Amino acid sequence: MPIAFVEDRIDARVPELGNPTHLIDTPITVRFDPLTGRTARVIVGEKLAPATRPDLSELTATPRFCPFCADRIESATGLLDPAVTTEGRIRRGVSVIVPNVVAYAHHCSVGLYDVTRHFVDLDELTPTIVGDLLTGLAAYTRRVHALRPAWHSISANYLPPSGSSMIHPHAQTSHDHVGTTMQRRLVEASDAWVGRPFWEQLIEAEAGGPRWLGTRGRVVALTPWSPVGFHEVWAVLPGVPDVTALTDEDCHDLGAVLSGVFAAYHAANLSSFNWALYGGGPAPTGRYSLLLRVVSRSNPKPMYRSDVTYFERLHDEVILDLPPEQIADLVRPHLASLVQP
Ligand SMILES: [Zn+2]
Repeated sequence: MPIAFVEDRIDARVPELGNPTHLIDTPITVRFDPLTGRTARVIVGEKLAPATRPDLSELTATPRFCPFCADRIESATGLLDPAVTTEGRIRRGVSVIVPNVVAYAHHCSVGLYDVTRHFVDLDELTPTIVGDLLTGLAAYTRRVHALRPAWHSISANYLPPSGSSMIHPHAQTSHDHVGTTMQRRLVEASDAWVGRPFWEQLIEAEAGGPRWLGTRGRVVALTPWSPVGFHEVWAVLPGVPDVTALTDEDCHDLGAVLSGVFAAYHAANLSSFNWALYGGGPAPTGRYSLLLRVVSRSNPKPMYRSDVTYFERLHDEVILDLPPEQIADLVRPHLASLVQP
């Protein structure tokens, strides 16, 4: 079954802002995700892009006590389960992996991008720092997997609007026999796809197109046809079934893509984000390919407006003010090191 990039146009008429007796045509584009059927709406007239970047200095100032800063991490964090690893804390460059104190999965860990600085801004999350973090988290994941195959994911919040309770930049891993709703949905839809694997076909269809960003090693970067969030970028590793199959080189290639996206977000006056790397589950069929998805979130400022409305939270529907092709144009200059077809 070839991939169909389906969109539907809805014609709406609304009163003009400031001139309510005058009706104007405002078309809405509804895009169907070719794999899951989920829809996203691209609307016109709403300009959500921040014109300036908030001052983060007060929020991100080094506090008297932070368990993740280098001077405290040894005394304030525990050692990783010795059944998983005898390394205690996994260190790669300036990143450190420690056990999570909040349990949300059978095994869960926290990885600090950089323990030497309490806050690392988006334009300072270099390919090396992000790559080293991913290398450590993937190593931890492989060791958990050796103990018992599971659904693995690595995900991140950054600053409070993304859901983060800790300012010190970090990512988290999750490992158990259930996985998450989105993870299962991606894998089940990939398994149910008829014909050649969906991800193989997607990359063929998108190569060199308006959403294409390029490749680096085994990593393919692009913006999705039907996003789930703002400024969404994907990194896909075609044919790689799970986090456990990532090489150190893959982790650094993913780190380079993420670092470029963070730089693009910084240049667009953004400051908060989430990302998730969805593992393919304990029994991969070869139909799913490892996906990393990164989205921006609202900027932290007093009484900020959340970017998650009833549409996203309760209808599983996304409202976007910029189409994915424009996001690709915004990110592309920051991924100049990627290879083009
Ligand atoms: Zn800190």
